[in-house]
Amino acid sequence: MAVARLPGGWHVEFERAASGEVVSVLTVFLANRRCPWKCVFCDLWKHALEDGVAPGDIPAQLDVALSSGPVAGAGPIQAKLYNAGSFFDPRAIPVVDHPLIAAKVARFQRVIVECHPALIGDRVWRFQESLAEAARIQGSERAPELEVAMGLETVNPGVLPRLGKRVTLDGFSRASELLARHGVALRSFVLVQPPFEAPGEAVEWARRSTEFAIGCGATAVTLIPVRPGTPELEALAEAGIFSPPTLLTLEQAFDASLGVAAGRCRVFADLWDLGQFASCPECLAPRRARLERMNHGQHTEPRVVGACAGGHGGDEPAGA
Ligand code: SF4
Ligand SMILES: [Zn+2]
Repeated sequence: MAVARLPGGWHVEFERAASGEVVSVLTVFLANRRCPWKCVFCDLWKHALEDGVAPGDIPAQLDVALSSGPVAGAGPIQAKLYNAGSFFDPRAIPVVDHPLIAAKVARFQRVIVECHPALIGDRVWRFQESLAEAARIQGSERAPELEVAMGLETVNPGVLPRLGKRVTLDGFSRASELLARHGVALRSFVLVQPPFEAPGEAVEWARRSTEFAIGCGATAVTLIPVRPGTPELEALAEAGIFSPPTLLTLEQAFDASLGVAAGRCRVFADLWDLGQFASCPECLAPRRARLERMNHGQHTEPRVVGACAGGHGGDEPAGA
């Protein structure tokens, strides 16, 4: 099969829904062209297709994921269509495919896509209508709710303008208002310890960023520890301007952000490849398990004190 007709991957995981239930969620990583923003911290381009996709390719990618064993039948009830860029970038996902994509995911209760704040506009509302139309044609009682995930990244004024995202807090806030006006839910990504940020301030900026996202109406905030691996980050690390957060920093940022959310919004810690942030292999498993329980339960739990007597093998304490 042509490579443009294969998704980058897909998996099913459990996530706490806005209702409080923990539900199964399908995430499909759609393969498409490289995101034009090229943020300094972003490594998603590694899976981009040099030539992008043609009309029909993205629906074909979805078919591959949707027909796989764990997804077919009753399967997950929410779907994330993540394309390592913006779903509403017409050069990434051909607009002509939107109705067909909508038809393929109309059976889910919620459909979550990601988008840069600058591209929030008519295409979003038209896709929302396509979902409703597809659900009607398929005889569903209700259309899937549409949720758009936007990267706020950080409210740190010394950092945000330097990330290459070309977004301002005003721009983010305006895009959030538009989504709210059209009944589209907002999810927000917040970075933990981005480049240009003093490690000792990382927890506090993550907390403030979560607070800002909630003020913009976010129903979910995902904290993403910044992972090394792009040439830009490597150069910044060599210059002493970037160091990846420790697991302890992520734990503290999660505790603080859950505290500030106080049940108004779900807060999640992104646990992908968590081991790279831990310097103590002995307590990694219980610490990961604690974060997973907190993702599902949305309550802060006491920290894990490992066999390393709570020192966590040299994780540097960071921030408040
Ligand atoms: S806008 Fe999002 S996907 Fe695009 S480069 Fe920036 S972080 Fe990566
Ligand atoms: Zn330990």
